[in-house]
Parts: sequence; structure tokens; C-alpha cells
Amino acid sequence: MEKIKMTTPLVEMDGDEMTRILWQYIKDELLLPYIDLNTEYYDLGLEKRNETDDQVTVDSALATKKYGVAVKCATITPNAARVKEYNLKEMWKSPNGTIRAILDGTVFRAPIVVKGIEPCVKNWKKPITIARHAYGDVYKGSEMKIPGPGKVELVYTDENGNETRELVHDFTGAGIVQGMHNINKSIESFARSCFNYALDTKQDLWFATKDTISKKYDHTFKDIFQEIYDQEYAAKFEAAGIEYFYTLIDDAVARVMKSEGGYIWACKNYDGDVMSDMISSAFGSLAMMTSVLVSPDGYYEYEAAHGTVQRHYYKHLAGEETSTNSVATIFAWTGALRKRGELDGNEALMSFADKLEKATLSTIEAGKMTKDLALITTLKDVTVLNSLDFIRAIRATFDAMA
Ligand code: NAP
Ligand code: MG
Repeated sequence: MEKIKMTTPLVEMDGDEMTRILWQYIKDELLLPYIDLNTEYYDLGLEKRNETDDQVTVDSALATKKYGVAVKCATITPNAARVKEYNLKEMWKSPNGTIRAILDGTVFRAPIVVKGIEPCVKNWKKPITIARHAYGDVYKGSEMKIPGPGKVELVYTDENGNETRELVHDFTGAGIVQGMHNINKSIESFARSCFNYALDTKQDLWFATKDTISKKYDHTFKDIFQEIYDQEYAAKFEAAGIEYFYTLIDDAVARVMKSEGGYIWACKNYDGDVMSDMISSAFGSLAMMTSVLVSPDGYYEYEAAHGTVQRHYYKHLAGEETSTNSVATIFAWTGALRKRGELDGNEALMSFADKLEKATLSTIEAGKMTKDLALITTLKDVTVLNSLDFIRAIRATFDAMA
């Protein structure tokens, strides 16, 4: 069979530890035999980041701006232990944070739904995608402990020195206070990313805040979404047969529980942090979550939602067998290849991505899976495979498909 050609390169961001091992297996077994893989390769492995003073991360993000689509392997975010382990010059920042700061986008996380791995919420039939606003609020807050009686105020001083004040609280005893902010520009790009992604994936978009209580702060989020929707997206949503729906956060939570899934749930920063963990654990496993960063300018970066699976890597290094789930990393590749195909009008690449996803799910549904899934599946008679044999089983399924 002739290999599929690619006209435009895909930005490939390699990573660390066990996921770096899976990355190579996936390329060798599932991609290179079928595709003339055209990637611009950036090694975001911690050693290379250290060697280049993290310039390689910046370069990979700039390449994403140039080509439009990237696929990223999980990477180590250094902490004190890693600085020692890798003898780092500095505690380099999270690559995801650096990339997000350059591309400015929203992260969409969606579970991979497969028969045999049943969500805890029994009426959830389709994935629920969480879109988390990744700027501001309590994550950029400033706080104070108030030792005793006294007045706390919000003070805004404009460029001419005029002050506007708002009383927070007149304390009669000890207490606490917190100030947080957001900026309209960031909320606007969050809104556009969500509307674009909804159109892209043909799913309804839900957004919820606590605007009845927070009449200025949360209400601004609601208003910005509504204005942008009315001015730029209403007609496109209608044409695509999808809906934008705003409600209160408590109402949203209740509706999510009773829904059958199949929509995007846009969340403010804190809500998204909490709800994405709820959604992923209720759907089964972090190893079955994909994640894509969508920038307001239409750049895409696909990855798995989990980390580098350090514990498995040390077993691997010790020569022990591992059974690490590669599904989310495979879906990062298929997501990126499909998007590349879409942008280039490359039908063969798009069908390849669809087929590889089908083969992956069919392999699991046939009872062949990694240990993490075997522990939670409702299927009987499962075969637990090691990391490489699972990928080879997917290849066998793929080759047997028409
Ligand atoms: P992790 O890599 O997500 O793994 C935590 C645990 O979850 C594993 O020990 C394993 O449980 C299970 N697990 C996660 N992914 C799995 C998979 N694909 N297959 C099977 N089991 C899986 O988190 P971590 O060990 O806390 O973090 C390791 C490194 O990843 C850190 O240095 C962190 O900075 C980095 N990280 C990177 C990203 C990213 O690049 N996007 C995200 C998160 C963390 P068992 O041990 O019970 O088998
Ligand atoms: Mg969290």
C-alpha cells in the first residue's frame, strides 16, 4: 500500500519519561508504516529544554503559529526534586504554560468513550468536553489576613489619579480578604475559542457563571459571551444546527448530571479546574482524556491530559514490564493529523485518523487492553497487554479493517 502524503508539516513536540517511550512506539507501529510523516520535530524532553535554556519550547510554540497544528507528548514540569534529578540550570517553567502564553488559547478536555468502560453517571452516553478559561480570577488573586478591626476597600486609581472606592468589609474582628481580576480581552478570546470549537466539532456550547450573585464580575463574563455570540456567531450556529446556552452554574451542574453528554461546557478558571477532574474521574480514567489547546487565531495543539507516568517509567528503566495506556496519546496524534488533513484538504489523512481511532476503540472492545482499563472494565474475559503489545494489537486490528 502506498503511504499517505502530507503537504504541510505538523509540529511534533516530543516529551519525557514513559510517554516519550510510548511516543516512539506509536510512531513506529501506527504512523510510519502508513504515512509519509511530515513533521517539524522539537524535542521538549527536559534535557533538551535545559540545554537550550528552554528556547526549544518557545520555538515549538512559534512553529505552531507558523503551521497551525501541533501534537505534544507529556512533559515534566520541574520541581525541586527534578532540578536535582536532571541537574537543571533553573527550575524551568511548565512547557504548557509557556506554549499557552504564546498561543493564547483555551484548553478543551474530552473523555474518550468506549464500550466496556462505563461512566459512573449511567445516563452519560456521549463525551462532555470541558473548556476551561486559563487566565485570572483566584489563580491571580492577592490575599490578606486581617488581624483585627479595620476597613477594607477596593481602590481603583485611573491614569489621571482619580480614585474610585468600594467597601469590601468593615471588620470588627480578625478575618480574611481576597482581591482578584480578569481582563476583557482574555474573556473575549476565551469566548471566541469556545464558539469556534463548538462549530468545529458541531456540538452545543454551554456556559455558566454565578451572575445573579456576582452582578459585575461574573455578569461581565455572561455579557461578553452574549455580545460576541450575537454579533459574530449566531448565524453560524444556526447554520450548523447547534445551540449556545447560558445558565447559572448551579443549574448547569444539575443539568450536566441528567444529560446524556455530547456538548461543550465552558467554565471559568476555578470551575474548570474542579469540574474537569470530576468529569474525567466519572468517565473512567485520566488515561482516556484528550486535551487540545485552541487559540483564538485558529492554532491547535493536541495532547494527552495525563502526565509522563513517572512510576511506570522507572519500572521500564529497571527492565520490568509496563502496561501503560497509550490511548490518549494516540488520540492526540489522530486529532492533530485530522486537523492537518482538514486544513490541507487531505482526505486520506482524515480517513486515516478516523480509522486509527476506530481500531483503537475496537481493540479495547474486543477485550484487549492495558492494566488500568482492565481494572475498571465491565467486559468479561479481558487480556491485559503490556505497553508495546497493546499498540501492536491496535495495529493488527487496523490492518484487519477494510
Ligand atoms: P501522571 O503522569 O498523570 O500519572 C499519575 C498516575 O496516574 C500514574 O502513576 C498512573 O497510576 C496513572 N496514569 C496516568 N496516566 C496513565 C496512563 N497513560 N496509563 C496508565 N496509568 C496512567 O502524573 P504524575 O506521575 O503525577 O506526574 C508525572 C510528571 O508528569 C510530572 O513531572 C508532571 O510535571 C508531569 N505532568 C505533565 C503534564 C503535561 O505535560 N500535560 C500533565 C500532568 C503532569 P499508577 O501508578 O497507579 O499505575
Ligand atoms: Mg485540578
